[in-house]
Amino acid sequence: MGVLLVLGVLLAAAFAKENFVGHQVLRIHVVDEAQVQEVKELEELDHLQLDFWRGPTQPGSPVDVRVPFPSLQPVKVFLESRGIEHSAMIEDVQSLLDEEQNQMFAFQTRARSTDSFNYASYHTLEEIYDFMDMLVVENPQLVSKIQIGRSYEGRPIYVLKFSTGGNNRPAFWIDTGIHSREWVTQASGVWFAKKIVQDYGTDERLTSFLNNMDILLEIVTNPDGFAFTHTKNRLWRKTRSLTPGSSCVGVDPNRNWDAGFGLAGASSNPCSETYHGQFANSEVEVKSIVDFVKAHGNIKAFISIHSYSQLLLYPYGYKTDPVRDQSELDQLAKSAVTALASLYGTKYKYGSIIHTIYQASGSTIDWTYNQGIKYSFTFELRDTGRYGFLLPASQIVPTASETWLALQVIMDYTQSHPY
Ligand SMILES: [Zn+2]
Repeated sequence: MGVLLVLGVLLAAAFAKENFVGHQVLRIHVVDEAQVQEVKELEELDHLQLDFWRGPTQPGSPVDVRVPFPSLQPVKVFLESRGIEHSAMIEDVQSLLDEEQNQMFAFQTRARSTDSFNYASYHTLEEIYDFMDMLVVENPQLVSKIQIGRSYEGRPIYVLKFSTGGNNRPAFWIDTGIHSREWVTQASGVWFAKKIVQDYGTDERLTSFLNNMDILLEIVTNPDGFAFTHTKNRLWRKTRSLTPGSSCVGVDPNRNWDAGFGLAGASSNPCSETYHGQFANSEVEVKSIVDFVKAHGNIKAFISIHSYSQLLLYPYGYKTDPVRDQSELDQLAKSAVTALASLYGTKYKYGSIIHTIYQASGSTIDWTYNQGIKYSFTFELRDTGRYGFLLPASQIVPTASETWLALQVIMDYTQSHPY
């Protein structure tokens, strides 16, 4: 090959997007503890390059795993030889990604205002950052943008503050997108931001809320990961930091908080999707929030939004002990998911992280709860696995709208139960 051709091939490899042709997402049905253990063994087989979208937890709860084409046969043989039932949820991951790209490009006109912004489409980091600037310019009395830090790769990290005045009023925090591939969450964050400015002054409930409390909204909580999902690998979850001595990139920013850090429910392997990092708060995307929350000192509710699975969760994730406010949080979660279901009938389960999904250490809301923020919750938005992280853009507005009803229940409750 000529030098130019070699160079060309190298460049193409460097700039190419990871492709997922022939990859399938399998749903695995585990019926007993023995099968759970067998699927955990499968998870340990690094050479198969499996990506567990929903890991093995307990008998009866489904496992979703993306399997690269070359691993399909070995995985199926593994499962079938052990009598473990499975089916293909997504027949070809790449064809869903192609649809998603086509949809994005079909609507790719740069919005001149937040009124002409397309809320029913996914957007790049740059488009979302432009949206935030427009929102601030259009609503200077209500919205401001605070830079709370810079990402590992140097991108600014922003929080939108919705406030009608006062001096450090009690605040309601919402973050979306700490796991970058959970695109419906950042898209919902954008929709919430617009909803807040639209409803202030017209909707009695929200107006009353904002006359007493502030809303803090971090839409792109993992900007490096999010940029990477657009340019290189749509299914990137972690941060983009480097770990000395490892060729694997990134830390799971929802295992990096200083609450049960490094206990069971996180991985010490830098190549794992749940790698907890070298030490608590090692990720600047996490540390920036920690510093902000401590300096603010008056955050009364903290809502961290993920997808998917349709769950509303409260602490703890790292231990089985119930939180002090267990019954109150459980009641509030029940009211919130009831409100959510009232719009389209979308059903959510609720409960503590460890009892509802699995043990997860170093997660966001365990830390915020231990900091004294009583109303600490995590959402897992739509769906239950049909599309998983690749939820069609047509579901963004319905997802955000129903979630907003649940958020309003928690907002009202927080406002009327000062502590
Ligand atoms: Zn997540």
